[in-house]
Amino acid sequence: MAQQPVKIGQFELYTVETGRFRLDGGAMFGVVPKTLWSRKIEADQKNRIPMATRCLLIKSTASNRIYLVDNGCGDKFSEKMSSIYSLDFEHSELVRSLAELGLQPGDITDLVFTHLHFDHCGGTTTYDEDNKLVHRFHNATYHINKRHWQTATHPNAREKASFLKENIEPISEYDDLNFVDDRHVFEDGFTTIPADGHTIGQQLPFIYDDNRTLVYCADLVPTYAHVPVPWVMGYDMFPLQTLKEKESFLQEAADSEWYLYLEHDAQNEIITVLHENGRFSVNQSMTMDDLA
Ligand SMILES: [Zn+2]
Repeated sequence: MAQQPVKIGQFELYTVETGRFRLDGGAMFGVVPKTLWSRKIEADQKNRIPMATRCLLIKSTASNRIYLVDNGCGDKFSEKMSSIYSLDFEHSELVRSLAELGLQPGDITDLVFTHLHFDHCGGTTTYDEDNKLVHRFHNATYHINKRHWQTATHPNAREKASFLKENIEPISEYDDLNFVDDRHVFEDGFTTIPADGHTIGQQLPFIYDDNRTLVYCADLVPTYAHVPVPWVMGYDMFPLQTLKEKESFLQEAADSEWYLYLEHDAQNEIITVLHENGRFSVNQSMTMDDLA
C-alpha cells in the first residue's frame, strides 16, 4: 500500500529507507559494556549491530519544495567496504524508495544534510557507466551547516575516516551549495537546531505546528538504546558535550511530547520519551503510519 504522509503544518512527511548496514557495537555504545548494550540490540559474530539509514522526505504544500534529509551510504563502496559494513540494499534502496513515492532524484529541490559522515551523504553521488562521479540530485540546493563544512573539509585525524573523499570532493565542486547558520529557518514550521557533540555543526531538522513536533534525531539519538543519557557513541568527537545536549534535548522532548524520528534504529522508526526519577526512557515506539 502506498505510504500515507504524516501531516504537520504545511508539510507532508514520508519515510525514505535507503538500505541497511552494520557498525561495530562497541563503537556505537562507547563506554557501555557489551553485557548491557547487547541486551538491547543484538550483535552478529563480528560484533556488529544492524543499522538503518532512514531518511526523511518533506514536501511543502506552501512552497512546493521537496526536501530530502540525508541520503544514506550510497552505492560507491568497493566490494571490500560493502562487506565490512554489510551493506544491504535488498531491504531498501534510495532511488527505489523515492520511486515508491512516485519521485525521481531530479524531483528533489533541496538536500538537507544533518552532517557529512558517509552514512548520511553517500547517496548524493554515484558512478555512471564511465565510472565518473555524478550528482544524483542535480536540481537540488545542498544545505550544509557552515561550521560543519569547516570540519568536514579540514577533519581531525580521528574523524577523517568518516569523511570520505569520494563524498566530500564532488560536494565541494557542486554549484548550488547553501552554507547555513545554526537554527536555520527553511520555512515556517521547519527549522534546524545544532548538536555539536557528535561532530561540529551537526544540524537536526525540527518540523512542527501547534499540535505536533517531529525531530530528525540523526546521531544525537541514533537508536532507541541511546536514550539513557550516558549511552553515548564512541564515535562522538565531544562525548561530554553530547551528554549535555542529550540531557536538555530529552528533557524538552519528554515535556513537549516530541516525536523522535530515528535515522539509525533498525527496529524503531519513531519514539517518544519519558522522564521519571531522574532518568529518561522510551515511552512509545511507533511508525510513520501510526502518525499519518
Ligand atoms: Zn555521524
